Amino acid sequence: MRPSLIDPLFASLATLPGVGPKTARSFDRLLREDARVVDLLFHAPHGFVDRRLRPKIAEAPLDAQVVIAGRVTEHRPPPGRYSNAPFRVLVEDDTGDVQLVFFRNNQAWVEKALPLGALRWISGRLELWDGHRQMVHPDRILDEEGVARLRPVEPVYGLVEGLFQRNVIKAVEAALARLPNLPEWLAPPTLRMIGAPSFADALRALHDPQGAADLSPQARPRTRLAFDELLSQQLSLRLVRSQMRRAKGRASVGDGSKSGAIERALPFALTGAQRAALADIRADLAADRKMLRLLQGDVGSGKTVVALLAMATAVEAGRQAALMAPTEILARQHYERIAPLCAGAGLRIALLTGRDKAAERRATLAGLAAGGIDIAVGTHALVQEGVTFHDLGLAIVDEQHRFGVHQRLMLSEKGAAADVLVMTATPIPRTLVLTYFGDMDVSNLTEKPPGRQKIDTRAVPLERLEAVVDGVERAIAEGARVYWVCPLVAENDALEVAAAEQRFEALKKRFGARVGLVHGQMKGRDKDAAMLAFQAGETRILVATTVIEVGVDVPEATVMVIEHAERFGLAQLHQLRGRVGRGAARSSCILLYKGPLGETAMARLSILRESDDGFRLAEEDLRLRGEGEILGLRQSGAPGFVFVDLAAHGALMARAREEAEEILESDPALTGERGRALRLLLYIFGRDEAVKLLRAG
Ligand code: ADP
Ligand code: MG
Repeated sequence: MRPSLIDPLFASLATLPGVGPKTARSFDRLLREDARVVDLLFHAPHGFVDRRLRPKIAEAPLDAQVVIAGRVTEHRPPPGRYSNAPFRVLVEDDTGDVQLVFFRNNQAWVEKALPLGALRWISGRLELWDGHRQMVHPDRILDEEGVARLRPVEPVYGLVEGLFQRNVIKAVEAALARLPNLPEWLAPPTLRMIGAPSFADALRALHDPQGAADLSPQARPRTRLAFDELLSQQLSLRLVRSQMRRAKGRASVGDGSKSGAIERALPFALTGAQRAALADIRADLAADRKMLRLLQGDVGSGKTVVALLAMATAVEAGRQAALMAPTEILARQHYERIAPLCAGAGLRIALLTGRDKAAERRATLAGLAAGGIDIAVGTHALVQEGVTFHDLGLAIVDEQHRFGVHQRLMLSEKGAAADVLVMTATPIPRTLVLTYFGDMDVSNLTEKPPGRQKIDTRAVPLERLEAVVDGVERAIAEGARVYWVCPLVAENDALEVAAAEQRFEALKKRFGARVGLVHGQMKGRDKDAAMLAFQAGETRILVATTVIEVGVDVPEATVMVIEHAERFGLAQLHQLRGRVGRGAARSSCILLYKGPLGETAMARLSILRESDDGFRLAEEDLRLRGEGEILGLRQSGAPGFVFVDLAAHGALMARAREEAEEILESDPALTGERGRALRLLLYIFGRDEAVKLLRAG
């Protein structure tokens, strides 16, 4: 149970004075579903308005934020009711005058706010127009009482439609007033090192920037919050990991009967890297401690085969295995590729997704529970309640950043002592593995299967779109299949889909029924149908949003066009490019960009042209863009960091790691005085799953 001390932080925003149900819904869109007080407190301002400058009218600098005081001397309505001219109001002090300018003719409101003869304080920016001082749409108009309450420096927040700065400011003030008195959870030396205020003071300071320096991630309050966040993450990783390892593993030793049959049936020989990874995994399976291993391999490096052979080994040892993929399409694809090999080796396999027919689902669940099914492939449907295994020995999670720590844990908990293998196609620089996965063991598939051709990669400005379409026409005349990926529209699915639909319509005018479309908002069945039509060659061009990014395999596809490539991260471009070049034919990737390119975008495109080594690209991406992009957090909506900025706080990482280690060494169940304070930290940063483990242990 969460200690009641921090309940106020988890109250709904609608409980704050001034936040009605409608505003609360806007906050939900801004922050998260069912936003709570803590979510608002974590919504840092990105700027501030400084209203400390209060000059006389004649002395007011132009184009700077000022508050002037003056008497209203004249109203100048626009000539005629239907005029588009603005409503002007003249205000004077003893040094001069200024015209306030209001467009959109909201006359009644203006007259009420600025009655003739009244003294008013007006905040905004002055400009010269036609030789006169004027201020267009002041941001505040205040009377004496109002100006007494005006905050000299006011934070500026990110907004969504329906919310105004004043709503956020007011709600934040109310939220800060609810901050309970919290015990300190950081060790005194750490506090000294970062010169940090208390957590509550840090939040107060966060929402009260006094200058540009206060907005920097290096500002002390922000550093403190970043460290808190890192510490909570490191503690939670460690707790999850020790929980996963605590349950003693069981030795699963295969006899090679089934995995050998599969290997012989493969139309290729395993690469050295695949063999080495398998040896690592089999050694883990055979040991009586629990496996916790990360298998990293670039797109197309052949992780699926490794997973299949590992699962076969587990089955040889008398256990079951499960492979969990992040999307329906991927789960199905894994299943379809694996099933024939399994049949040949006498392995019983089933597919479990959220879309199975009731009768099928019942049969699958019964088979898993009774042990009649050896291998389950599926989506997160695998970890739902009601899915029980007879004896799950190996849990494999594919494309792992799409899943949270919690889901990974849940799959492994479907078995008494299941070994866990996590596979990722986005290699993560070594420095980040520890941060995000705790100290998992790592196997890297650094070597690609033989015969892979380098993909001819070219950057082409968007102005040459027509020429690219001509090229596509020639390519499909020769039998090629083409992916056409449409731009990411920042954080906006609807616009992203609209862009894809537009491109689809445009290409259809030229290519007719040979063009298909797939995007994230289509129904699962329609998505599958579009993918299948492309796979079967019924369509030749597949217009897609990034839904095709992960894993989908169409060996005949040889051309990848990426529109607005400058908007994608390096790792993501690399992933997309990896969709082609899987067969024998020469493949190409066209990066359509909209110029002029910034330095980073230019560097990204040129690195991509010259390298196809995912490990190197990941390192470069880290250098160019920061960790969030590499991990695809933004796209996946996985819980990223709120305050941590690796570029600014990288040095704190090691310290947080050490501190977490020390803490759990001296108080592994967090029951001491500081331990109990640290539990609060875990709750505040949403690491409830870690606290639950403490209770269970
Ligand atoms: P990943 O999941 O790592 O992106 P896949 O497992 O989908 O890669 O493999 C990509 C393709 O390479 C598949 O068609 C697979 O059959 C093939 N493949 C895997 N291993 C080898 C190998 N050793 N030699 C040749 N082809 C391979
Ligand atoms: Mg894969």
